[in-house]
Amino acid sequence: MIEIRNLTKKYGQFTALDDISFDVKKGEIMGFLGPNGAGKSTTMNILTGYIPCTSGTVKVGGFEIMESPREVKKQIGYLPEIPPLYLDMTVHEYLKFIFELKAVPLGQRKSQMDDILYLVKIGDMKNRLIKNLSKGYRQRVGFAQALVGNPPVLVLDEPTVGLDPGQIVEIRKLVSSLRHDHTIILSTHILSEVNAVCSSVVMINRGRIAASGSVSDFTASEGSVNKFVISVVGNKNTAQNVISEVNGVRNVSFLRIDKDAALFSVESTKNVDVRRPLFNELSRASLPIIELRPVGRSLEEIFIDIVNKDSVSHTESVNNDSSKEAR
Ligand code: ADP
Ligand code: MG
Repeated sequence: MIEIRNLTKKYGQFTALDDISFDVKKGEIMGFLGPNGAGKSTTMNILTGYIPCTSGTVKVGGFEIMESPREVKKQIGYLPEIPPLYLDMTVHEYLKFIFELKAVPLGQRKSQMDDILYLVKIGDMKNRLIKNLSKGYRQRVGFAQALVGNPPVLVLDEPTVGLDPGQIVEIRKLVSSLRHDHTIILSTHILSEVNAVCSSVVMINRGRIAASGSVSDFTASEGSVNKFVISVVGNKNTAQNVISEVNGVRNVSFLRIDKDAALFSVESTKNVDVRRPLFNELSRASLPIIELRPVGRSLEEIFIDIVNKDSVSHTESVNNDSSKEAR
């Protein structure tokens, strides 16, 4: 549904986005995760046609943003970081104005208005001036605005920022309820938000992609390991046979001999934790395990790493590789 390729954005000399590529499939809720300043809003502003990119392509539903900006914009409802609300209008007046702006066919307006007011639960507030609404309600009005015209794609820039915990839960519920009919990109700098509502995740940092995949990929590598390195003392061939016989092991490949131990890379079926049976079987064969280490890092580890690096980067220049080794 959304296809971003080699997207680069420069603000003068400063490179805010550096050659990023990712896809969002139809019906997915993609969590766009990254610390402040990572480039999330920049990406969203380009995707929605608010600002031009420096190079690269963005396709939404088959249309390229620079070639067919109107077609792309028609398919997207955008809730920017700061929703463009007119404070001196009532909720109803404002939404009517948005219907005009988006040129929704006259015959559809009344029923769509009713649907939206119901969906985002602002029916009771429709005759209030927007300036008299709480932050939570204003955010709902921002949501309502994005839903006008019933676009298949929703782009939501940090929709829960500045809300209290109760309001955050409400907004998350709202997003989840929209998942059936929409493809959604939701940016956030809060990891738990991604786990709560998203099906896939793209993590960016300093304008580059740090990690991406389905949320279950990351939680799987966190809980039940699916790829690891195992180090066993004893005969290499026997060890390899024993490991490959264990239920749930999909693949074993020999890496190298390290002193008297043989190192293997082991892949197991997702959701099957083979570590215990591996221990039991190898121990039965008198082949002691001296190391068992997951490969690939969880979303949380990657994110914490990024945030930590960000906090030291003001005072020192960070060499990614050596700092990873030291950890
Ligand atoms: P995020 O939304 O992830 O917090 P942004 O996309 O807003 O990040 O910003 C990414 C980087 O680009 C930041 O370093 C920010 O200071 C810079 N930036 C954003 N907008 C502009 C602009 N209009 N001019 C210059 N620099 C900008
Ligand atoms: Mg932002």
